[in-house]
Amino acid sequence: MLLLRRGLFSRFRSHTKMDPIFDHKTRRFRNPFSTWKDPSTWEAMKWGVSRTPPKFPSQDESMQMFGDPKQNVNVELLKTAPKSLRATWFGHATNYVQFSSSFTLITDPVFSERCSPLAFAGPKRIVAVPLEIEELALCDAVLISHNHYDHLDLQSIKRLEQKFQPVFVCGVGLGTFFTKQCSIPEDRVVELTWWQSARVASSRKHLQGRAEPNSSAGGASVTTGSLAVDVQMVPAQHWSRRSMGDKNQSLWGGFHVSAPIGASSEKSSFYFCGDTGYNPELFVEIGRRCGPIDIAAIPIGAYEPRGFMCPQHVNPKEAVMIHKEANVRQSYGIHWGTFILTDEPLDEPPKETKIACEELGVAFGSEFHVIHAGRSIDASDGPVSLLGLQRKDEAFL
Ligand SMILES: [Zn+2]
Repeated sequence: MLLLRRGLFSRFRSHTKMDPIFDHKTRRFRNPFSTWKDPSTWEAMKWGVSRTPPKFPSQDESMQMFGDPKQNVNVELLKTAPKSLRATWFGHATNYVQFSSSFTLITDPVFSERCSPLAFAGPKRIVAVPLEIEELALCDAVLISHNHYDHLDLQSIKRLEQKFQPVFVCGVGLGTFFTKQCSIPEDRVVELTWWQSARVASSRKHLQGRAEPNSSAGGASVTTGSLAVDVQMVPAQHWSRRSMGDKNQSLWGGFHVSAPIGASSEKSSFYFCGDTGYNPELFVEIGRRCGPIDIAAIPIGAYEPRGFMCPQHVNPKEAVMIHKEANVRQSYGIHWGTFILTDEPLDEPPKETKIACEELGVAFGSEFHVIHAGRSIDASDGPVSLLGLQRKDEAFL
């Protein structure tokens, strides 16, 4: 597994407020942010017994609110490389991101019917996936923000490995999930800590591709024309747990990915927040180090009840604040309209996002988009760039 252990642990000993804290005794990570509050089992239980989740929509209601992802996706478009950068929302935190070189990555792939350790129980999809893994043309890398079941799905990882043999990038402590549980060779698994970056090259069979970690924040520039991108893990205010006893033993985060546009020295860049709560300094720092960012995928759902969810999941207003603070040109909302995980009404996130944009002076529909699963955002297509958007997409507003 590719990991700069020496640099990593010396960093933890003298952490700053923008580095993760690693407790050597318990071997667990902690958020360094004053805005963090650990989700206690007691509070989770209290919420569990008193909660009033929205009811599961009928197929008609789902179509009305979210459209048909299989109709929304432009399959032919996804077979072509974009001029600079294109991101397609596949529902929840799954994004299909294409660079001008044709390098293609997927974030937090969940293609299964449920996001759960069990195949027959747990949160079930309220919309279909736009395309199945077996229908995708390319996948050179898979980025995993953390190990919660709605972000890391064993069956989806196995199917991606079977079809593409991509490079898997994750936080420190999560690499063994891929090597042990999915039998992925160590040289295709990259563990990163916050601000650490790696040049990730495609492992497409005809290419000599390898992931090469480099310790400098920001990473080295990629050779023009090569099938590679620079992936940097960035902080997020969240936590991890896959099973009893492994809480916070692997690191969570977001990713900033950049690559040259064609043969020019210009770069395009994509920011995937992962799951995160809001902190007033965190996203300003991401903007300072990574901005301007061309496209960002920012969560707008899973925020109620606020008292319990606030430290770990942003609400729509905070999502729009992230867009501004991280210096993003175009953002779109993710982490809503796919699984029922929390208590806000299913159609509330788009409405609240529109209101927040108006309040914060962000142009809704050109700077911050709310799109249906299957739709794409193109970085070079100008300010209004909802590819193939139809008015009925906005029926939820
Ligand atoms: Zn999570």
